[in-house]
Amino acid sequence: MKPFPRAEVSRQALQHNLARLKQIAPNSKVMAVVKANGYGHGLLNVANSVTQGQHQADGFGLARLEEALAMRQGGVTARLLLLEGFFRQSDLPLLNQHDIETVVHHESQLTMLESATVEQPISVWLKIDSGMHRLGFGVDDFNDVYQRLIQCDNVKKPVNLMTHFSCADEPENPITTEQINCFNAIAKDLGGDRTLANSAGTLFWPTSQADWIRPGIALYGVSPVMGDRGYAHQLVPAMELMSRLIAVREHKKGASVGYGAYWQAKRDTRLGVVAIGYGDGYPRNAPEGTPVWVNGRLVPIVGRVSMDMLTVDLGPDATEQVGDDVQLWGKNLAVEDVAEHIGTIAYELVTKLTPRVTVCLD
Ligand SMILES: *Cc1c(COP(=O)(O)O)cnc(C)c1O
Repeated sequence: MKPFPRAEVSRQALQHNLARLKQIAPNSKVMAVVKANGYGHGLLNVANSVTQGQHQADGFGLARLEEALAMRQGGVTARLLLLEGFFRQSDLPLLNQHDIETVVHHESQLTMLESATVEQPISVWLKIDSGMHRLGFGVDDFNDVYQRLIQCDNVKKPVNLMTHFSCADEPENPITTEQINCFNAIAKDLGGDRTLANSAGTLFWPTSQADWIRPGIALYGVSPVMGDRGYAHQLVPAMELMSRLIAVREHKKGASVGYGAYWQAKRDTRLGVVAIGYGDGYPRNAPEGTPVWVNGRLVPIVGRVSMDMLTVDLGPDATEQVGDDVQLWGKNLAVEDVAEHIGTIAYELVTKLTPRVTVCLD
């Protein structure tokens, strides 16, 4: 018997999505973003899937040094970039040793780079704050910082340039054009590689694709945009979150179910109990009516999601049996749909699965 709950990750879907992104951005290299355990799909599952076959990622983006080290330990030889850079001077020897590139977004990193003794110059990507106002150097500070990097022997030349979008998932929002213009004005006469686009930039703002795109969520087959779906861009969901029915029960009209007893049946019906809950990362705040796929149809969640289980209304004529497959999201039920019901984004659903969910690659 397959373990459950489990997240089935499809190598083929990941490879397909990578190929699709290369088709959408034919002149750009792909820095596949695999932070947060490959958005919950398994860091090495993803890395290995997109470094085999016809189309390959040209590099990987990570948030933390530990993630980059796990990639090297897993045998990944491609270029690796720390999207938030390093945090301590003692990180620098590890960047050398494992050939890891770093974003520089803050004065403190610059100071550490200038005062360190390193074995070899370090590859850096200078982050420009073009309007997100979270990380990066503003337009006014850029020249100073750039000159300091150029003059720093610990920095490999040329210095690469990057920025990040705040609203690229809103195709009508003029902020993205302003960000692109701001970045291009600064980068105009400089060397080095450039990267601006996350998934939404790649899909909706082709002028932002530049030398490297940095897709995360799209690689997993999911749209970055509210109300949109990955398949609208010919992307295929890479994860199917599966579990099983562990009970099917006759349920009387007027009877409640679960903690708080806050849902009551309006008719005699059958309830299914599914082995997944917030202890697995399925959100407790999923409201009544959130869809769940059971045996080829969608049924609504009723009652509160508990730690290990949730309940669905199968209807009075249900023929489901204990042991039947349940899909919480995947090819039969878009994770974007589930996220909308719950009032969150698909990113949060896939990254919040807990270690109790077995992740299997097929
Ligand atoms: C997470 C991240 C990305 C990927 O974003 P998606 O919206 O998942 O495509 C790209 N760039 C940076 C700097 C990031 O932090």
